[in-house]
Amino acid sequence: MGRVLVFAEQRDGSFRKSTYEALGRAADLGDEVHALVCGADVADWAADLGRYGAQVVHTVSDPALAQYASGAYAAALDRAIEALQPELVLMIATAMGKDLAPRVAARRKMAMLSNCITLDLEGEAYQATKSMYGGKVFAKVHATRKPVLATLRPSAYPVPQPQESAAEVKPLEVDLPSDGARVIEVAQKAEGQIDVQEAEVIVSGGRGLKEPANFDLLQELAGALQAAVGASRAAVDAGWIDHAHQVGQTGKTVSPKLYVAVGISGAIQHLAGMRTSKCILAINKDPDAPIFNLADYGIVGDLFKVVPVLTRELQKLSG
Ligand SMILES: Cc1cc2nc3c(=O)[nH]c(=O)nc-3n(C[C@H](O)[C@H](O)[C@H](O)COP(=O)(O)OP(=O)(O)OC[C@H]3O[C@@H](n4cnc5c(N)ncnc54)[C@H](O)[C@@H]3O)c2cc1C
Repeated sequence: MGRVLVFAEQRDGSFRKSTYEALGRAADLGDEVHALVCGADVADWAADLGRYGAQVVHTVSDPALAQYASGAYAAALDRAIEALQPELVLMIATAMGKDLAPRVAARRKMAMLSNCITLDLEGEAYQATKSMYGGKVFAKVHATRKPVLATLRPSAYPVPQPQESAAEVKPLEVDLPSDGARVIEVAQKAEGQIDVQEAEVIVSGGRGLKEPANFDLLQELAGALQAAVGASRAAVDAGWIDHAHQVGQTGKTVSPKLYVAVGISGAIQHLAGMRTSKCILAINKDPDAPIFNLADYGIVGDLFKVVPVLTRELQKLSG
């Protein structure tokens, strides 16, 4: 076991839930856990990562890091790896992680394990499980050398129980590149919506909802379950809901504790994004819908009758 560096993804001073998941896994895999936080003005709040297992938090503060920019962030992570020489660098396979990880792995000639569902140290080698061919098979892969850069699938590991400890915070000097891509605008999603990749419960809707207004039914069910709202590509392509909600091969990959599929047939491309959910409930009027082959629980029925009843009963339970 050696030194592990976790790239801590944050926005406006808030860490993604999956950053805590990565810290928890880092504590299991290494005996020294460091974290790197990049931003415009990273201050003492970064010490909070200590509650989730970071012993030292390295901070890079620069206006060029206010928004994610590939070149600047890659330079910061590259410098941190050079300074710390970790044997494992961990990050999450979010949009940012998927962009940043291969850049840095290539630059530093590190072995890379991407989008891991499990990551373990077998003897001296890091070994991972990856979902392949749209989730039809699981592959065991191992890195033949160190150091390794690995990205974990969001929700693959639990958030560790927070402890009463703060990490030591150490600013890191980095020469950031002045050229390259610049962020011109960031389009914020509506307030209060939970990102499907951050959610423990997801209620997803498909073409069975018939029209966009019927997503209100799902919003109510999601409210009762404190869930995020997801969607199939058919619903997204029809313009009923934004692409940020799409789950699947060309959408987001999720592994929540509970995934409720409403009016979704269960095409292979949809399953590719949610197959690793811990528990799946499908609501579909067609008893032969392929989603029932994967579901742990199924309700065969008209969603327009089933969903309101389910919502009402859940609301009663929560008072
Ligand atoms: C390259 C590629 C990438 C793709 N990527 C994705 C992706 O990322 N994500 C994704 O989801 N898809 C993706 N697709 C599309 C995928 O193949 C399917 O077309 C899509 O998932 C179907 O969406 P759906 O289940 O909502 O619609 P449908 O397949 O039309 O299913 C609708 C379901 O609703 C049920 N239903 C209808 N009315 C009711 C009712 N009143 N009550 C209960 N149930 C009802 C029906 O029985 C049916 O099972 C991709 C396709 C390709 C070719």
